[in-house]
Amino acid sequence: MHLAKAIRKTQCAIRPLENPFPAPERIFPGLEEIDPETFPDFLDEIGLVGMGGSGFPASEKMRASVGAHTLVINGVECEPDITIDQTVLLHHPLWVQAGANASAKAIGAKQVVLAVKNNPDQRSMLRKLYPEYSIIPFPDRYPAGAEKLILKKLIGKMPPPGVRPYQLGYLVQNVVSLRAIGRAIVDGIPVVERPLTLSMPSTGFYKNIIAPVGLSISEVLETTHLAYDPDRHLITASGRMMGHEVTGDDCIEKTTTSLIILDREPFEGLEHNCIRCGACNTACPLDLHPFALTEFIQKRKTKSTAFRAQMTECFLCGACSAICPARIPLVHTLIEGKKCLS
Ligand code: SF4
Ligand code: SF4
Repeated sequence: MHLAKAIRKTQCAIRPLENPFPAPERIFPGLEEIDPETFPDFLDEIGLVGMGGSGFPASEKMRASVGAHTLVINGVECEPDITIDQTVLLHHPLWVQAGANASAKAIGAKQVVLAVKNNPDQRSMLRKLYPEYSIIPFPDRYPAGAEKLILKKLIGKMPPPGVRPYQLGYLVQNVVSLRAIGRAIVDGIPVVERPLTLSMPSTGFYKNIIAPVGLSISEVLETTHLAYDPDRHLITASGRMMGHEVTGDDCIEKTTTSLIILDREPFEGLEHNCIRCGACNTACPLDLHPFALTEFIQKRKTKSTAFRAQMTECFLCGACSAICPARIPLVHTLIEGKKCLS
């Protein structure tokens, strides 16, 4: 009896909390009002950059793509150990579709195509979640998700060097970028969070998480209780192939597609001289000559048209470095080569 009285008293004391923060003003009015003029400004307002890893200003890409006939949702995630695009496609279809439909409307696209890895089970789920889009499967092989290779499949031949997707009538947008657009349209939330894969393959730990942009990596690792030891492990951000090493003091960025914790030991082997095996040429998906390019860069012979044309095409996928039996970090030199183009 006393207890019931006490509960009633407590219930009477409960008042709805007053929210000191007013509801966010919608920064975008709705799908029906989207037009090519205002949409790129909206992308700037929400702070969107290419979240597939490029970090390219999304508004510029959108402006250039007005008039494209097809929007391609790029879900062909191909870096080993990263599954965030597939996870977002399966778990956040509302936001992805809102972002895709808005982008398609803004550029005047006639169709939306969903490019995904060739996984029959997943394809049937995606068909149910995205009934309005055509689904095109791509090989589950690195670097099948590169924009250029997606276009190669869509147009039936390798796009000519230097030609951008919009010049061929396509806008290729990463899944997480479209999710961010949808989140802003549906909920009025700008780009303040980053879905990413967090993994430590040596312990079998794989998770997809959403982290606030700006959170330190050590805070992320603390919350997941991972046995990370900086003396024994290194952290790569945004992929084993295209990513870079980070430390616990670095922060989650809008372009952080993943954090992978790897044992240091296999990476500490010695680099040898090139044995001219040609494996790097064979591995390059664009038929470039990676070792020759690195020689040009090291000898500072970077003015020739041939060098500049090949260097412009290289998208730093790292396939050449990964295959090299002499452990030459070709891609590190190629990153320097990119700087010679500006
Ligand atoms: S990083 Fe290497 S394999 Fe990849 S595109 Fe450039 S040269 Fe080719
Ligand atoms: S794969 Fe390595 S060793 Fe072989 S040619 Fe290329 S740089 Fe030289």
